[in-house]
Amino acid sequence: MSNLALLGGTPIISEPLKPYRSIGEKEKKAVNEVMDSGVISGFYGSWNDKFWGGEKVKQFEKSWAKQFDVKHAISVNSNTSGLYASMAAIGISPGDEVIVSPYTMSATAMAPLGYGAIPVFADIEPETFGLDPKSVEQKISPRTKAILVTNIFGHAARLKELKALADKHDLYLIEDNAQAPLGTEDGKYCGTIGDIGIFSLNYHKHIHTGEGGICTTNDDALAERLAMVRNHAEAVVEPAGVENLVNMFGFNLRMTELSAAIGIVQLEDIDDHINKRIKLSEALSDAINGLDGVTAPHVRDGCKHVYYVWAAKVDKDILGISRTTLSKALITEGLSNFEGYLNPLYLLPIFQKRIAMGRDGFPFNQSDVTYEKGMCPVVEDMKYNRLLGFAPCMYDVSDHDIKQLQDICHKVFENIDDLKKYEKEQEQ
Ligand SMILES: *Cc1c(COP(=O)(O)O)cnc(C)c1O
Repeated sequence: MSNLALLGGTPIISEPLKPYRSIGEKEKKAVNEVMDSGVISGFYGSWNDKFWGGEKVKQFEKSWAKQFDVKHAISVNSNTSGLYASMAAIGISPGDEVIVSPYTMSATAMAPLGYGAIPVFADIEPETFGLDPKSVEQKISPRTKAILVTNIFGHAARLKELKALADKHDLYLIEDNAQAPLGTEDGKYCGTIGDIGIFSLNYHKHIHTGEGGICTTNDDALAERLAMVRNHAEAVVEPAGVENLVNMFGFNLRMTELSAAIGIVQLEDIDDHINKRIKLSEALSDAINGLDGVTAPHVRDGCKHVYYVWAAKVDKDILGISRTTLSKALITEGLSNFEGYLNPLYLLPIFQKRIAMGRDGFPFNQSDVTYEKGMCPVVEDMKYNRLLGFAPCMYDVSDHDIKQLQDICHKVFENIDDLKKYEKEQEQ
């Protein structure tokens, strides 16, 4: 008889881990100050000095730009909003193509569609799961206008290489940096290497304001266009003297003073929030170190990983059991898995049925770009066979919890033969 919880034994952790809580007294005080002021949003949707936002919004943007060593930070009400605003700012037009990753949150791949452009999927690298520059280059066509890359799980994609590729072909490089605040490549912050970087401040991210997002850029003109789209651009282009009207119809993507006030104090503690996730992730990597068939998350030379997800890779042939069985064994012992992004994005109905905007299949009906299964072999292999993930951002763990999570890894791997037997029985 095995003592694995999956096979009837006692789990190492029987209570769910505590959810991560980054909202404390500081945040409450900051919000109450705004409440007392009565001005819970400072924006005006017309051309006056409040067009650029309230005091807290402006202060938050200034602090963000300083923290990330970038010229401009433009707050929005979500990362998704920031993705749309970035497509507007760079002048994406119907029929353009934007190269995206199939291995990211769906929002990344939707942004081009918002402006009638076509998402084109390139494959990812098997080590750190970011866009593979070689695959990207093969997908560049005369219609390509931008590469929209995700720094997935908290690790930089090959940003320097992708920027060089973008420059060579006269394309924009946009970074979806929802998952990698303070991640770096060669000493430069993720989100500041492309023309625009977009961060998320939703509840599940490293630091948050409930909902929220922020765009970064070193380009003055792009910064102005982002801020215009955020706040009813069409109504102010004339008094503002804006001449480039491309995509200058705006939305209301504005951040409230309440969110900005939370953002300001969260940002003060960003190192602490991120270091906790790194500590937990490194402990998990240590616990599986030396085991044949499971590889801890890879950190490329010169990069800092900030672990939105700790994503290990499983090799079934070496390990002798499938990823699914291993995952079940870990979960029943109390190590909850991250099970996101189970399908490559191009297999979503929107691409398979080619229905996005309106009834007639626009913009796909204008394009011969296709979305067939098998088109990105690395991502398909990864999703179905290999990935073992844990989301450190979701849990508040003590040193004791960390030790127990490590014990879970040890216990499962010491009893791997029982799992092999279990799997054989399941197959029969
Ligand atoms: C969370 C996330 C988003 C969406 O962020 P919101 O702020 O919820 O809009 C987009 N892309 C990636 C990679 C994400 O992780």
